[in-house]
Formats: sequence, structure tokens, C-alpha cells
Amino acid sequence: MSFPIPQHDHRACIAEAMNAAEVECLRVGARLTHIRRRVLELVWESHQPVGAYALLDVLAKEGWSAAPPTVYRALEFLQQHGLVHRIALLNAFVGCSHPGHDHAGQFLLCSGCGMAAELEDGTIDRAVIATAASLGFTVSRQSVEIEGLCPSCRRKGDAP
Ligand SMILES: [Zn+2]
Ligand SMILES: [Zn+2]
Ligand SMILES: [Zn+2]
Repeated sequence: MSFPIPQHDHRACIAEAMNAAEVECLRVGARLTHIRRRVLELVWESHQPVGAYALLDVLAKEGWSAAPPTVYRALEFLQQHGLVHRIALLNAFVGCSHPGHDHAGQFLLCSGCGMAAELEDGTIDRAVIATAASLGFTVSRQSVEIEGLCPSCRRKGDAP
């Protein structure tokens, strides 16, 4: 995997994500209703995590009579089905690039452009679980959020 570069064919990312969401909902017999689908599309609009209020704004402009609870419920559904992850640090949501299996959320968050990339590195969660276990602690859920600069923001920083 690589960090998303600023100019890439993001329509392909959206298409792939929506397809994966449909497959996953079909697999578990969940319904991807209009509002759930639209919220997922909006989360996938970019690789920058998006907050619930920003989503509400867009939905209101689009003429959805979406009250906050509707959007929260849609986000909850998407989270439960592993289609989006919540980034606690930013109180925002980002699309999961590989739904359909249980995994710990591990994210690189660029403080330059605001983009996020998901890692899926088993050695990280195993290390967390083992270290916690050495303290007699059992991990039920883990999320790793790492802040820094992505390759293109680093290059911008190097430029004179
Ligand atoms: Zn993309
Ligand atoms: Zn994920
Ligand atoms: Zn960046």
C-alpha cells in the first residue's frame, strides 16, 4: 500500500469502495439504504476524514431532510459493518479501504494535507496485544492514530 498521492484517479477509489460496501452488505444481509449509501459516498469524497457536521451540511444542501440522528445512525451502521472508521483524534470518519474482515484501525494522518491512510500491519496489533498482556490487560479493541507528514507534504516542505 502507499499513501494516496494528491493527483490520483479518486473516482476509482470511490467506485471500488462502493462496490466493496455492496458486496459486504450482501454477505451479511444488511441493507445499504439510500441515506447510508450517500453518507458512505460523502465519507469517500476524499481521503480526508470528515466530521458528522460537515456531512449534515452537505446532505442539507442536497435537500435530504436528514436530521442529525439520521446521519449518526447511518454512520453507526457504516462503522458497525466496517465500512468506515472513526478517527478519534479528529472526531471524524474515513472510509475503510478493505472492509469484510475484522481488523484493528491503524492510521497515518497527515497534518499537512489532512489525508489519512490506513495501515493493516499485524505486527503492530500483535505487539500491542502482547505488551498489554504483559501487564495483565486484555485488549478488546484497538486503534492506532499516527500524526505526521505524507510524502508530498514532505516534498513541499523541502522546496525553497
Ligand atoms: Zn482516492
Ligand atoms: Zn479498515
Ligand atoms: Zn500530506
